[in-house]
Amino acid sequence: MSKVGRPKSSNPREFHLPDIRLTREEKRMIELKAILHEKGNVSQYIRSLVENDRREVTPLKSCSCGSTDLKVVYKDDIKHVDIGGSSFEIPLKSVPYNECNECGEELGDLRLHAKIDEIVDEEVTHRLNHKLPVPFTLNLFDVISPSQI
Ligand SMILES: [Zn+2]
Repeated sequence: MSKVGRPKSSNPREFHLPDIRLTREEKRMIELKAILHEKGNVSQYIRSLVENDRREVTPLKSCSCGSTDLKVVYKDDIKHVDIGGSSFEIPLKSVPYNECNECGEELGDLRLHAKIDEIVDEEVTHRLNHKLPVPFTLNLFDVISPSQI
């Protein structure tokens, strides 16, 4: 007898978000909205919210020079990765930075850059495990809004 079940996906949902602590009111609100918008499927409701989040990146409030006039600029970077003793350059496209309109200083976001490093390392591992080409280009716009391509 053959196994019956879902067909194997080429892009399986194998990752999990951490548990989120909620108040009673927040839990009720999410579950009701999931019913109203996604037939009660909370996972699909959250995916839908993230996909539809079109907010612009908010610049930092102030620069070390004292100015509060900053803007977000998107720049290209290079990340170096070591694979089996060989160094590869991974081009990063559209990385958000804060630029001070007063002194011109460019300020990166440590948390964002740590996450980008984590994504690149995970992508390298995925590509090596699936015999896909390395290096590759990582465009942050594509990662953040894949449905807008
Ligand atoms: Zn400044």
